[in-house]
Amino acid sequence: MWEKIKSGGLRSMVDSLSMQEATDLTFTYGTMNYKPLPVNIIRGENARVWDETGREYIDCIGAYSAVSHGHLSPNVVKIAKEQLDNIAVVSRAFINAEVGLFLHGLATFCELDRVCPMNTGAEAIETCIKLARKWGYTKKGVALGDAEIIVFDNNFHGRTTTIVGFSTEGDYNKYFGPYGAGFKSVPFGDIDALRAAITPNTVAILAEPIQAEGGILIPPDGWMTQVRELADEHNALVIWDEIQVGFYRTGKKFAWMHESGAEPDLIAVGKPLGGGILPVSAAVGKNHVMEVFQPGDHGSTFGGNPLGSAVALAALAEFETSDIPTRVAELGGKAMDFLNNMNLPHVQEVRGRGLLLGIEVKEGVDTKALSQELMAQGVLTKETRKRTFRLTPPLTIEEDTLMDALQRVEKAMSAVPV
Ligand SMILES: *Cc1c(COP(=O)(O)O)cnc(C)c1O
Repeated sequence: MWEKIKSGGLRSMVDSLSMQEATDLTFTYGTMNYKPLPVNIIRGENARVWDETGREYIDCIGAYSAVSHGHLSPNVVKIAKEQLDNIAVVSRAFINAEVGLFLHGLATFCELDRVCPMNTGAEAIETCIKLARKWGYTKKGVALGDAEIIVFDNNFHGRTTTIVGFSTEGDYNKYFGPYGAGFKSVPFGDIDALRAAITPNTVAILAEPIQAEGGILIPPDGWMTQVRELADEHNALVIWDEIQVGFYRTGKKFAWMHESGAEPDLIAVGKPLGGGILPVSAAVGKNHVMEVFQPGDHGSTFGGNPLGSAVALAALAEFETSDIPTRVAELGGKAMDFLNNMNLPHVQEVRGRGLLLGIEVKEGVDTKALSQELMAQGVLTKETRKRTFRLTPPLTIEEDTLMDALQRVEKAMSAVPV
């Protein structure tokens, strides 16, 4: 195998590898921290993907929002190819024009002042945590070592040791401690619990505007505004994690924008910022927070590389020039109507906003069998927590493809015993 790859035969290797061979390689040489569905995806175009036999599927996960522009968006790919004729990685030891343009473009797009570029979502969150703590010590006057950040039960902010340390999900954190102090978790959407948890040492409140991994959980109307008000009363920062729900996923540019009084000091962005082809993330915020970083405080070898910067600019440009901003709410509404009218005894509740949709099935429905049935129907999705099947297709999915996918979901569900 390696002989063939060394002599330039990777593509033909990929095409000739069977599903079983690809699976065996994955489980023999990889760690076992994922349990993938048995489908070997080797090609994609917008919302459709193909396996090694040429069988077509509709991608209803869209890499958890990372593929919001669709697989291999022509605009993004074109910019990436142009960039690969020039330069890809220089490190931030030097100035680079693409990075400068990216920082300006993203700050403007986010309606905030400054950007600290990273690669993955977890790194963007870690960056927000460091910014908030240094802000707390140097600007709010919290005694060194005492800063507290309030987070929410059922949160998902990534997989680093600091972040899983404040997860309330046993699978994520049972064996990976000891963890650092400085986080307090309260029930999501419960403003009284949040009020009771705030102390003079609270430097920030870190929340997802909608808990996506947690099962597509939407807080009560007005909650985000109340979070902002509480933070103002106690001189604390508001940090929204927009990594999965940002960039029009819920129909607004950012999910916090569903409430006019929910303006953040800092947001974490990632996933679709990479245009569906690269990891690009960032902490983006107001000057009064961002200015606390001085040389040496933080960094990332690949964060803010020219290739990622060019690709992210292409991704942002596509949001500004395509019909994505208007079509998501419309398609989401149609999808929601369809799901609510399915009238299947399997369904506990349908939740969502825009093209972030969750179908919670009743206890007793065999979710594994349903996953298999969905795959047999040519629809790719998996359940997240709380028995909720997530639908987060590319925001560029054609309307008839989306409706086709929903009909297949209905068919798959009817085929599984309640
Ligand atoms: C995916 C996700 C992250 C982590 O992003 P990675 O790129 O996987 O590190 C953080 N927060 C939210 C809300 C996410 O959905």
